[in-house]
Formats: sequence, C-alpha cells, structure tokens
Amino acid sequence: MERTGSGDLEAALAGVRAFVLDADGVLMYRGAPIPGSPEATVELHRRGIPYRVVTNFSSAHRSSLAAFFGKATGLTVDPNEIITAAWAAAAYTAAHHSGAPLLVLAAPDALREWAGQEVLTPAEADARPEPVAAVVIGDAGDDLSFANLDIAFRQLRNGAEFVAMHRNPWWMTPKGFTLDAGSVVAGLEFALGRRAVICGKPSPVVFRQAVAELRAELAGRPDGSGGPRLRAADVAMVGDDPRADIAAARRVGLRGFLVLTGKVTPAEAARSVVRTDGVARDLAEIVAALP
Ligand SMILES: [Mg+2]
Repeated sequence: MERTGSGDLEAALAGVRAFVLDADGVLMYRGAPIPGSPEATVELHRRGIPYRVVTNFSSAHRSSLAAFFGKATGLTVDPNEIITAAWAAAAYTAAHHSGAPLLVLAAPDALREWAGQEVLTPAEADARPEPVAAVVIGDAGDDLSFANLDIAFRQLRNGAEFVAMHRNPWWMTPKGFTLDAGSVVAGLEFALGRRAVICGKPSPVVFRQAVAELRAELAGRPDGSGGPRLRAADVAMVGDDPRADIAAARRVGLRGFLVLTGKVTPAEAARSVVRTDGVARDLAEIVAALP
C-alpha cells in the first residue's frame, strides 16, 4: 500500500464528520502518549468533530480507563468517548437480552458496565433449572477457573447465547507472555461446536456501536447543528493494525486510515495487501490534513 501524500490524505478525508480511534498504537504506545496525539484529540474537540476511542482492553470500566488516559496525557478524558470490548458486550446484551438473566465472567471493575442488567453469579446460574439468556466471556483473570468455565459450558450447552469480548489468544504484561481470554473462548467453541458472537475488534459489533453513538451525539446537538444523519462512510477509523482495525472497519463501511506509530513499520505498511483509505505518519498528520 502506498504512503499517502498530504494532498491525497486531504482528499481521502473529505466529508469525514467523526472518528473512531484505536488506543494502543494511535494514542498511546507502551503506556505513554504518542507525541502529538493528545493535541490532535484537543483539536478534534475544538472543531466539534466527535470521536470514540475503541479498544479491546476489557478488564476495566471506561471511567477507570478515562482516568488512566487522563493521567498519562494531562487531558480531561470523557468515559463516554471510550468503547471497550466490555462496554460493547454490555451494550450487546442490553440490546438483545433486555431484562433477562446473564452469566458474565469479567473482572470486577469491567462488570460495572452491566449495571442495571441482571447478572447472576456462576453458582446462581448453575442452581437454576433454565439456562441464562446469554453467557459473556471476558478478561476475568483467576475467575476463568475450571469450575466457572464448566458452569458457563453447561449454560451454553443448554441454549444460552455465547458472547465473547474478544478472541485475543495472548498479550504482554509485566510477567511477559500472558494467556488471554480468547484462548478460553476458543476452547469453549471447540467443546460446543459453535462460535461465539465477538463484540470487540475486529468484530462488526464494536464498529456499529461506535457509529451509533457518534450518530446519536451529532443528532443530539441543538438546532440541527450536528448536520444530517451520520453514515458509516462519514466516519474515519484510525488504527495501527491493518487487519483488526483497517480491514475490519472498512467491512462495516467506515473509512480506514493506517498510522505508523504502532504495530507496523513503514516497510511493513508498504508490503501489506490490506486496502486503506490512506496511510499517515501519525494521528496528528491526519487531523492536520482535515479539510
Ligand atoms: Mg492498536
């Protein structure tokens, strides 16, 4: 894929009215802000262009993540501008299983995303004659125990909908390579012979959620100043992963812009076969090229 010239980038961004921003590799890298990215989000605010930060990080509530981003960047970060895989999964169960009992294996902080929904403990779910409406598997750490997964399996085998935050097999923590919840999801899929609905990236669920929130935000502006109904094609996804960010967003109809501040080097970007709407050095270059 070609590195986009600044004129090309400007043309590729024409008509963009909202953004979906990946966190790791776009705003932050190895826990520190990427130079120019905090200022770029301030510029989007100044111009009244809404955005959502979309991340598969799912062991914390959005307010905890906002506090973390805020501390790292010195900015005030609104939790409602963040969509984690946990929040996307909570929005999914709220939309599809409103008022019905759920089994959610998630970290306690992330579990707060289900406030107002009927979440049972594994023991409560196991004691019922009927299965819960849906089982959600997330980053529950030690709560992804054999006993809990066995209960989850039984609920799923008896007809609960299988929902997962993501299918990431492993990630890096201070311990080094660390098993991620996606490997457990794959194990349950194997045992059940059916696939989970994935809510985080690269699933369409999380991108549709982002577009819906951005559409509602613009529609809610006074006196119609938010403009006509937002279309997916009016939204630009900025990410550092050609497949999980760019290809996945483009499948749902968003535009996809690759930045070189994360996973891929300029040489790898040039070799990638994934189609993009543009390639930029960083988020700052994209925001500066907005018409
Ligand atoms: Mg990333």
